[in-house]
Amino acid sequence: MATAAKSREALLANYETVIGLEVHVQLLTNTKIFCGCPNVFGSDPNTNVCPVCLGMPGALPVLNEKAVEYAVKASQALNLRVNERSIFARKNYFYPDLPKGYQISQFDRPLAEHGYIDVPAADGGKKRIGITRLHLEEDAGKSMHDGFVDSASKTYVDLNRTGTPLAEIVSEPDLSSPDEAYEYLTRLKEIILYTGVSDCNMEEGSLRCDANVSIRPRGQKELGTKVEIKNVNSFRFVRQALEYEIQRQAEVLDSGGTIVQETRLYNPSEGRTYSMRTKERAHDYRYFPEPDLLPLIVDATRQEAIRSTLPELPEAKRQRLIAEYGLSDGDAATLTATQSRAALFESEAGKAKSPKRLANLVLSELQGRLKAAGLEFEDSPITMAGARMSADLLEEGAISSKILKELYDHAFEQKLDFPAIYEKEKPQQISDTGEIEKMIDEVLAASPKQVEQYKAGKTTMIGFFVGQVMKASRGKANPALVNQLLTKKLG
Ligand SMILES: [Zn+2]
Repeated sequence: MATAAKSREALLANYETVIGLEVHVQLLTNTKIFCGCPNVFGSDPNTNVCPVCLGMPGALPVLNEKAVEYAVKASQALNLRVNERSIFARKNYFYPDLPKGYQISQFDRPLAEHGYIDVPAADGGKKRIGITRLHLEEDAGKSMHDGFVDSASKTYVDLNRTGTPLAEIVSEPDLSSPDEAYEYLTRLKEIILYTGVSDCNMEEGSLRCDANVSIRPRGQKELGTKVEIKNVNSFRFVRQALEYEIQRQAEVLDSGGTIVQETRLYNPSEGRTYSMRTKERAHDYRYFPEPDLLPLIVDATRQEAIRSTLPELPEAKRQRLIAEYGLSDGDAATLTATQSRAALFESEAGKAKSPKRLANLVLSELQGRLKAAGLEFEDSPITMAGARMSADLLEEGAISSKILKELYDHAFEQKLDFPAIYEKEKPQQISDTGEIEKMIDEVLAASPKQVEQYKAGKTTMIGFFVGQVMKASRGKANPALVNQLLTKKLG
């Protein structure tokens, strides 16, 4: 393994990678982009269709204003400049799942241009990835190659998806590693989810990604021949496909071969890409302006009205949490991974005796146990409200951290929230002053050196004594009482 890794490194050392990503996001409108058919997933095949989305002669498209609003909102969240005037165009090609013989898309005048997403860079800083454009278009139908008794000889077509509103988001070729591509996609999805314009469900195809990748010898100015990897259905697989593809291209070039411009498919179970079709010539889609639709006008007033509905976006929220709760970048990212998680945390933090203690508990004790159990926050037996109760008890000194850990263990074993497990197994805490004083005397007698240091002015030693007494009580002494009695005894 070590030699394989080393040879991969040596192989790639001479090359530079250039990656660009195209992401299609289905917009969560109630109806399709150019007709009134329901925009829902999972209906019986060919039930959500009408003359418009079936491409019947004479049927005319009517633009769904909600789709425009959502696409503008996504553009603003991705720092794109929205054009006041954009044009719909026909993209002509023949395919069984495209009944009109063309797709209504946008070509030379897209809805929005010149955006960016900042991603974490390998050096620990941030790298800005440009977004070339976001345009509106309609989705095609779906060819179904499997699942029928006669699938060996026939393909079926389901046109429910035809006319689903899509935002296509095209990045600049600014990405220089599979890891950066993964980060870009993760952040893009997070931002879109925060805006609420798509559910970004990759299993249902609400978010789809194509990657263009090429390599060139370091120092060479012109780009290498690019290969397109299509329809990869998870971000992890996109990263794996890119890693495989970069190595494949380096091996071809090293052995004196040339890269063929082509489209490839990734097979996750084999961990490799396969050639799907070669592109000897660029596609000629014979774009022309859609004669049945007026230019799309989104003036400054409308843009501002839409902007005012944008929520606080993940990056801004992270920076605020870092400032308010003293969190690390990584911890803030964990708490803001979904909007609902961040909202739950903030609502409980607002009620907690110590919001910082709550944050620390959630990120250490709770997250550690979730990780070990392979669970997400959303599946945790201990809810955010339960975590807040435990943080408050700890803050008041009503339970020790040792007991808290035990209660968390029990909560996970019995799948109970913290209030329930606390009620059930309420720790028998020692609050008897005499009993605690006895333990304190024993601890002080056994640590003369530390007592001397404390009396010489090193008052931070108090933590050591508290720890020793808690240990002697097997975590059951009331920590607040221990602290109080110790301070008194040490004068
Ligand atoms: Zn329709």
